[in-house]
Amino acid sequence: MHPRPPVVTILGHVDHGKTTLLDSIRKSRLAEKEHGGITQRIGGYEIETNIKGYHTNKITFIDTPGHEAFSLLRARGTTVADIVIDAKDSIMPQTAESITHIKTANIPFIVTINKIDLPEANPEKVKRDLLKYQIQVEGKGGGVPTAEISAKTGKGIRELLETILLMASDLNLRYSESAVAHATIIETKKDKRGIVVSAVIKDGKLSVGDEIESEGKTAKVRSLFDDQGIPVKYVLPAKPFELLGFSELPQVGSLIMHRSDFKRKPAVEKTPPQTVPSQALTMEAILHPKKEEKKLSLIIKADSQGSLEAINNSLMGNQDIKIILTGVGDIYKSDVFLAKTTQSIIIGFAVNTPEEVKQLAKQEKIIIKTYNIIYHLLEELNEVASLLTEKKQQEKNLKGEAKVLASFIIEGERVFGVKVLKGKLNLGDQLELHRSSKMIGKTKLVSLKIRAKRVNEVKKDQEAGMILGPPLDIIVGDVLKSIL
Ligand code: GDP
Repeated sequence: MHPRPPVVTILGHVDHGKTTLLDSIRKSRLAEKEHGGITQRIGGYEIETNIKGYHTNKITFIDTPGHEAFSLLRARGTTVADIVIDAKDSIMPQTAESITHIKTANIPFIVTINKIDLPEANPEKVKRDLLKYQIQVEGKGGGVPTAEISAKTGKGIRELLETILLMASDLNLRYSESAVAHATIIETKKDKRGIVVSAVIKDGKLSVGDEIESEGKTAKVRSLFDDQGIPVKYVLPAKPFELLGFSELPQVGSLIMHRSDFKRKPAVEKTPPQTVPSQALTMEAILHPKKEEKKLSLIIKADSQGSLEAINNSLMGNQDIKIILTGVGDIYKSDVFLAKTTQSIIIGFAVNTPEEVKQLAKQEKIIIKTYNIIYHLLEELNEVASLLTEKKQQEKNLKGEAKVLASFIIEGERVFGVKVLKGKLNLGDQLELHRSSKMIGKTKLVSLKIRAKRVNEVKKDQEAGMILGPPLDIIVGDVLKSIL
């Protein structure tokens, strides 16, 4: 296992200095000087600092700042997030949104307080204001590291880089060349070379000639370039690189893997120590994010702070509704990506949804509902939430569930071949017959066999033969539920 450099995404309110900071760090990198400073932007760059004593001295920055980019990547490429806050303006609406995005993605983060060269700068106020967002920075009773900098003069930037390296050491980021390789796509474009995909590799190794795949789009890697445009034979974590070989544009934010690995079980990444809110981004978690407890998750956008408060106040008492984000303004692409990661519905009140956002929502299968009358909005949401409660109650009482796969007549008796999907079923159980999510009858489990052997119980993932009394009018595809 080798040490893996952290991948940092910078978020924050417009004009708080994200671009200036990224430019300033980019200029500081040593390698660039060696190559005459001519670099093409590929969506990310790696710097090698001369800071010693940490498990790595390299850091990769995603150089498209803002929470839109962060949510577009579904946070997959990021190991550390950095919120940049103007020391004079303190927390602004997009700062608050960035905080929500980072918390949702459950990624460790640093707060960078910028523009400390200004006479009105007040870093202490920023730290106090953060408490209102449940962020306790170091020195204010919490563990979130801060850096006070001036992106303009360069003051404090070295300390910021050191803080990032320290965080990476705490997380003990590692990679293995033999692990299942996966890279996150951070940008795509077409130029004279054809389709150019920029990505950051998170684990394993990608080489020229490899057969790869990204969400169904396949390619053979024709060439690889590093973040300075130099052709390379292979790439290792956490290098940003350009790749040629796709004949169709893959999706930004999606993963690139070897074709053979789509079937193989990927290695589980080591869980980092929990000193900071963090999550081990195992391949399982990346590909199959865990379902949240059953609540109706909402992202609410409204035309004014007043409407938002009214909606918020009415929904707050409902235990089955979870509000992920509220914001003033139209529905944006970032809302759709956040909805996807948090499995939410987007609710709009007296706001617009631009056509491209509608298209994206359709493609990502995200529901956007817009209303112009608050009463309608509240009525509908409360109704959906109560349906959810009912379903939850039913699931609580569910002992087991099986699907009917086949139906035969054996010695004059109707026998059903079933597979247990959830829990278990026992001989003598009262069963409900469900078709297309509706209950259509009740019966009893009178005989149960697994591979011709009589048994008393059949469990999840097992297949069995059943005789039911009465046999009802059961067809293949029906579901049998044992209720406690
Ligand atoms: P972004 O929208 O967050 O990417 O912000 P920019 O990097 O474009 O910066 C917005 C403005 O703030 C620009 O005019 C910058 O020159 C200025 N700015 C950025 N960092 C600093 C800083 O540390 N000190 C001062 N005085 N101005 C800064």
